[in-house]
Amino acid sequence: MKKWVYNFEEVTAAEKYAGNWEGVRSLLGGKGAGLFDMTRAGVPVPPGFTVTTEACNEFRKTGKFPAGQWDQQLAAMKVTEKKAGKKFGDPKNPLLVSCRSGAKFSMPGMMNTILNIGLNDKVVDGLTNLTGNARFAWDSYRRLIEMFGETVFNLDDEVFEHPMAEYKEKKGYKLDTEMTAEDWKELVSIFKDVFQKELGFEFPQDVYKQLELATKAVFESWNGKRAIAYRKKEGISDDLGTAVNIVTMVFGNMGDDSGTGVAFTRNPSTGDKKMMGEYLLNAQGEDVVAGIRNADPIVHLNDQMPKAYKQFMEITGKLEKHYKDMQDVEFTIERGKLWMLQTRNGKRTAKSAVKIAVDMANEGLITKEQAVLRVTPDNVDSLLHPQFDVEAMNSAEKDGTFFAKGVNASPGAAVGQVYFDADKAEQMAKEEKQDTIMVRPFTKPDDVHGMIASKGVLTSEGGATSHAAVVARQFGIPCVVGASSIKIDLERRVMVVDGKGVNEGEWISVDGNTGKVFIGKIPTISPSLEKQTELLTLLTWADEISARKDVREAPAKGYPTRGLQVWANADYPKDAQRARAYGAVGIGLCRTEHMFFEPERLPIVQRMILSETSEGRTAALNELLPYQRKDFDGLFEAMNGYPVIIRLIDPPLHEFMPDEEKLLEEVITMRVKNETDGLKAKEDLLVAIKGMHESNPMMGMRGVRLSISMPEIVEMQVRAIFEAAADCTLRGIVVKPEVMIPLTGTVKELEWIQPRLERIASAVMDEKKVKFEYKFGTMIEIPRAAVTAAEIAGHAQFFSFGTNDLTQMTYGYSRDDAERNFLITYQEQGILETNPFQTIDRGGVGKLMDWAIAEGRKTRPELEVGICGEHGGDPNSIEWCHLIGNNYVSCSPFRVPIARLAAAHAALKHRPAKKAAAPKKKPAVKKAVKKVAKAKTAKKK
Ligand code: ADP
Ligand code: MG
Ligand code: MG
Repeated sequence: MKKWVYNFEEVTAAEKYAGNWEGVRSLLGGKGAGLFDMTRAGVPVPPGFTVTTEACNEFRKTGKFPAGQWDQQLAAMKVTEKKAGKKFGDPKNPLLVSCRSGAKFSMPGMMNTILNIGLNDKVVDGLTNLTGNARFAWDSYRRLIEMFGETVFNLDDEVFEHPMAEYKEKKGYKLDTEMTAEDWKELVSIFKDVFQKELGFEFPQDVYKQLELATKAVFESWNGKRAIAYRKKEGISDDLGTAVNIVTMVFGNMGDDSGTGVAFTRNPSTGDKKMMGEYLLNAQGEDVVAGIRNADPIVHLNDQMPKAYKQFMEITGKLEKHYKDMQDVEFTIERGKLWMLQTRNGKRTAKSAVKIAVDMANEGLITKEQAVLRVTPDNVDSLLHPQFDVEAMNSAEKDGTFFAKGVNASPGAAVGQVYFDADKAEQMAKEEKQDTIMVRPFTKPDDVHGMIASKGVLTSEGGATSHAAVVARQFGIPCVVGASSIKIDLERRVMVVDGKGVNEGEWISVDGNTGKVFIGKIPTISPSLEKQTELLTLLTWADEISARKDVREAPAKGYPTRGLQVWANADYPKDAQRARAYGAVGIGLCRTEHMFFEPERLPIVQRMILSETSEGRTAALNELLPYQRKDFDGLFEAMNGYPVIIRLIDPPLHEFMPDEEKLLEEVITMRVKNETDGLKAKEDLLVAIKGMHESNPMMGMRGVRLSISMPEIVEMQVRAIFEAAADCTLRGIVVKPEVMIPLTGTVKELEWIQPRLERIASAVMDEKKVKFEYKFGTMIEIPRAAVTAAEIAGHAQFFSFGTNDLTQMTYGYSRDDAERNFLITYQEQGILETNPFQTIDRGGVGKLMDWAIAEGRKTRPELEVGICGEHGGDPNSIEWCHLIGNNYVSCSPFRVPIARLAAAHAALKHRPAKKAAAPKKKPAVKKAVKKVAKAKTAKKK
């Protein structure tokens, strides 16, 4: 006969059957496993037993208890009676029990628990005699009838609460504590009538019937609406089922030497190593959690019941040591005696998670590896962005200051004054020192200055990888995109939702965590990495783990055996400084075109583009050279000793030119008004821009293609890079420039351009008479480059996966269009599991990467491989990069801490199996020694 029921003492049998502790937790549920474990450790737990999750799952299939379960429950009850020294249903010396749900993973408050089972009209008198407390006995009985009606028969709580309120009013009582024994007795008779009236039968007087019905009700509560919804949200499987724990009742409501409470062994909000809990004297079960009366902080217990308090502190200290984690416990004190009713690993905030993990490692309770694994990348993320006070947000929603909701594109909280264009937002921020929020239907590259100057960005169009979203994340600016209920009127300078308007200059609050936008200012709480010492410590440990030389297996020559490094994408020296402060050990992508957009440079850039001769271009470029040299100089200085990858010009040239439509409008207006001054220049410009028009510019004249038709630009850039590097070297700075050629599709492109650039590199080094390390390499962002990686690596000394473009081109999706039009439908319909622009598509794009690395390293084993697409900051994609043999990932400076943790997680989760190690001969020797030893002992005998 299968064992469906285990007494709390039978932990060994459960372990034997389930194989290990994880199995015990599956079999007995988390609450059950905790009760068994505490019983074994000698912690005072009221006697009882557990009906397994396996029984629950049988019951769910057939609607009946499996054969043998009920008999085993009866037998277990006998054992419990013996231990408790009381008898179930015996009026002379009654045993009462609770019937508690408990699944493998805690689902607090989602399933049923029934207290005080075993009371009936006769037993209630017995309980009175036994305790000498009639008030307590009748109060317990009415609680049972109420809970039974509500949880076993799904009666509305109203049906009991209403008559109770009526009764109290009639008596002129305000509090439950004013109710006397007679009053509760009266109420029991009222409740029994209610029960009969609502259900058509009497409250069951047979205590075993009560137990049976309660057990079934707990089984059934696994499929309750709340429980199903909770599992869905938390990703808990529907197949696990719940166990039922039958526990001898202990009473916290027997007078002022009794009480009940809940506590965390450390502060779940701050992580402080200080017990945090609350209790109530003369109360039962849920009273504390339900907040019926104001509970007292746990330290007060020391004054009221010092003995119980001391014991409680000792037990919880032991539990924490045993589980090596912060515990969330329930306890009850019955006439001065302490009972533990539950223990589990407590839920906690991000801040508390980090502090507890680091403290526990420092205390020697857990290893540094365990500490690192206990904190999630999401925890780190939420610790680095300023956040709105949750309570303030909740009350704002009630106030009617809620404005709109969009996609939460870049986390963090922003409060500022609204401006509807980049120039105005920047001007108000710079000149008026205002906190600004830039609001646009969508953004473009020439809006970036306004975004950078602003505290936050809000758009009414676009998705999580739209331009606004990408740039905002890159710069760590809180951003909400695609808030489509907002109508922006750029003429009248106002945005409106349902008749509610916000004018330019008015204050709003934008929450990048939730995607919510509010009118007015919501208070924020703002964190900084430097001040978060525990987080810094944890990240240092993460780096140590990633830097170990044996965390990866090398499938072939050239593959790294240490973990991933984390580099950053940074265009300006101040970004590079931040990247260093956040722990980046290289720059994986410096986008040089940003430097062309600066106001004093743009006219030169435009002159360069428009000039018809190579000489004209060169002249303009010579003017730009000093600017670029200075940019790179600052970057090298900030990254002293670390590699810096600089990408040569990538976007199509028209991005640097004025907007065609706007220009046309200007020309027409001038013609109509007969203004001739400057008209000719504008007309010429218009013709030139029209000539540059491409029907699909993203796949047109850009990247290396542009460099091949106008090599002067990249020649200037390479000269600037090497001149800056040489100057820095002369100043004692260690430079490691790596020049990256974008958008390569065939090795012939590299064959054409790279030697020209390398000649400039050596020429500059000769001129300046210095030598330093450098590399030339390419981005892998066109599928053909990935496929032909073996050839490409013949020229490229490094690969950097530009996974934004690689994903676009592998799927054939234009990113912005996909996000706006069909990506959400695809995800809803299950065609795409996740957004491939956020998490690398391992089956397609990921395979290309894997192939490219393997092929590339066949040609060049020491090939350095990284990723600089947005995926470089995504934990799941980082894990993929670890698995396929990247040397590093590169992401926005703000995501560097997250990536450092994610890299260590990947290293820990995929540790190569320990080799049977040691030279072959050793075991033989050992065996021999053992044999000799054995022989010796044998002889002795
Ligand atoms: P949940 O999982 O929702 O916390 P529990 O099964 O832990 O539900 O029980 C609900 C409340 O009843 C808790 O406060 C618990 O401490 C209390 N409780 C459960 N069993 C007993 C018992 N045998 N004696 C006293 N109180 C109990
Ligand atoms: Mg509980
Ligand atoms: Mg690209």
